[in-house]
Amino acid sequence: MSVVPAAAHAAATLLRPTRPPAAPLSGLLARIGRTPMVRISRVLPADISPEVEVWAKLEWFNPGGSVKDRAALHMVLDAEARGLLRPGDRILDASSGNTGIAYAMIAATRGYHLSLCLPRNASAERKAVLRAYGAKIIDTDPLEGSDGAIRIARQLHRDHPDRYVYLDQYNNPANPQAHFETTGPEIWKDTGGRVTHWVASLGTSGTFTGTTRFLRTRQPRLQAIAIQPDSPFHGLEGLKHMETSIQPGIYDPSLADETLWAPTEACIELSARLAREEGLLAGTSSGAQIWGAIQIARRLDRGLIVTLLPDSGERYLSER
Ligand code: PMP
Repeated sequence: MSVVPAAAHAAATLLRPTRPPAAPLSGLLARIGRTPMVRISRVLPADISPEVEVWAKLEWFNPGGSVKDRAALHMVLDAEARGLLRPGDRILDASSGNTGIAYAMIAATRGYHLSLCLPRNASAERKAVLRAYGAKIIDTDPLEGSDGAIRIARQLHRDHPDRYVYLDQYNNPANPQAHFETTGPEIWKDTGGRVTHWVASLGTSGTFTGTTRFLRTRQPRLQAIAIQPDSPFHGLEGLKHMETSIQPGIYDPSLADETLWAPTEACIELSARLAREEGLLAGTSSGAQIWGAIQIARRLDRGLIVTLLPDSGERYLSER
């Protein structure tokens, strides 16, 4: 069973409203979201105007350790509300790791099994965490990256439609909807409505899409800046170079005021500096987010730039 109609693979807009959970959440899953926001200062170049602020939400404070808890929870609850997911079912999806870990944690709390298509070269830490939660990993060709994992997930679902509930994070409107309902309102509240620029990197694009759409309902002049890797062969785990990848159905290229092209080395170096100079042990895509925020900060006389740090550096230590 798929939660997304087949035609949606080609669609580039939200396809249908998602459904709220039947009952309020309690326990572990109620702790997803409402992450802390901190001001970034020491890694910013000295020539930035003192009237420009950069703030970042720390998404590893989610119980599954990344921003993807938000989307995974919303996709699971939406599938439950539609009657597509029942205890004992097996969830299927493709992930570069963080969504998989989020699903695995949620599946363990709600009585589901999980099969996850994951490129074989995903970090050892990610695989170990997934196995600890009881997930089944289906290794896919590392040379094909996240697109290879998507192709295998689609194939498995085509071959065994009754074995899996395919949540399809790249085409599932509940993914950006999670950010429309949580990340966006949190940023608005945390900044007291002062946010002028929002910077986010693109994987599925759910974080960027949902948050931008919400913030524009409050501040139509908000500048939304998308970050993509500067080449198809990049080292920024979790991010997609859209032009050369399978484009997610939820990706809306018209939303961004501007796209910045992030260089891998500079972003990895920045993520290392975040740990040493700000005490923020963050992953490599966090380096890309801060790299993007710095490019914007340099041009402004005043403004409040918000970004988020998607996951913790603990998931990359074996690669550093
Ligand atoms: N950074 C990391 C480390 C990720 O795992 C992801 C998700 N793949 C992203 C950024 C991008 O998030 P999204 O899928 O919402 O675009």
